[in-house]
Amino acid sequence: MSKYLPDIYRKNIFDIDYNKLKKKGIKCLIFDLDNTLALIDSVKVDVKVKELITKLKKDFLVVIVSNSPKKRVLKFSSDLEVDSYPFALKPTIRTLKKIKSKYNLESKSIAIIGDQFITDMGYGYKGKITKIFVDPLATKDLKITNVNRYLEEKIMNKYDKNNLFKKGNYYE
Ligand SMILES: [Mg+2]
Repeated sequence: MSKYLPDIYRKNIFDIDYNKLKKKGIKCLIFDLDNTLALIDSVKVDVKVKELITKLKKDFLVVIVSNSPKKRVLKFSSDLEVDSYPFALKPTIRTLKKIKSKYNLESKSIAIIGDQFITDMGYGYKGKITKIFVDPLATKDLKITNVNRYLEEKIMNKYDKNNLFKKGNYYE
């Protein structure tokens, strides 16, 4: 029942202890794009995000895996100078398989960072990689996300009743 339960839950990408991840053997960070790295209506990389990713690239392989279209995703990945996989159809893990073989990585050395249970945590569960959940940058989502948010709320409520997860109760 706890397949979507995050291993780590932080407020945002700036609030993650990346040193700890490195010590745990994480070599690759897969970032979701919308509402994790950027607002859905933002078309350019925030300066602070650029700084963080630039720093992280010294210690990790950084990749963007997004369900958004190519044009949008490539704009961000080229600005950040990272590899990216648009139209990824998360929670399917076809992109994870590609990343693992391209970079010769094992599941235990990969983490997914995202703002959605169904797509991002589902991807992490299926791929048996570390699942890091962050609060969405804004409440505004793509229309296609609304149904996932509805399901997510139901799952969150169930986890809450079982004392597994509560929105805003961060842990690592
Ligand atoms: Mg997202």
